[in-house]
Amino acid sequence: MKLISSKELIRTPIFHVTMDHAKDPEGFEIKRAIVQHGGSAVMMPVDEKKRVLLVRQYRLPARRYLWELPAGRLDEGETPLQAAKRELAEETGYRAKKWEKLAVFYPSPGFLAEKMTIFLARDLTEGEQKPMEDERIEVRWFKPKEIDKLIESYEIIDAKTQIGFLKWKRYFAGK
Ligand SMILES: [Mg+2]
Repeated sequence: MKLISSKELIRTPIFHVTMDHAKDPEGFEIKRAIVQHGGSAVMMPVDEKKRVLLVRQYRLPARRYLWELPAGRLDEGETPLQAAKRELAEETGYRAKKWEKLAVFYPSPGFLAEKMTIFLARDLTEGEQKPMEDERIEVRWFKPKEIDKLIESYEIIDAKTQIGFLKWKRYFAGK
């Protein structure tokens, strides 16, 4: 596919929306409004007891409070890992010595360009939270069994949290 045009429709502090038009050599065309986004880093902090740190905040699109893995947008020029380290300290106060990539995915590739990278963050030390002005974040440690139950009962309904937790259980929890 070749991008023929991309016209900006809206610009907001977090994302911008373009009308994109692409065509392949056979003449197949796609025209779509796309939410352009620089990508996000997601952190899965796990302590020595295998508990997972989740954050709870009010999510306006969902119209409710959600428990989630901590996450944040990449700043200009930042790699996902650099953003993960910065965001973990800002949102939770924790710093981690051991970082491993856990998952990479597009949460909604039909119209949203945001790519998410989840990192496992271990060997943690506690510090002070420094949330942004529009962030009010509650932080709590959860046992894997509690998270299992909350996913099963549709109380944890955030995609990155389900993906991170299930991948961690599949590949890391036994190690
Ligand atoms: Mg955040």
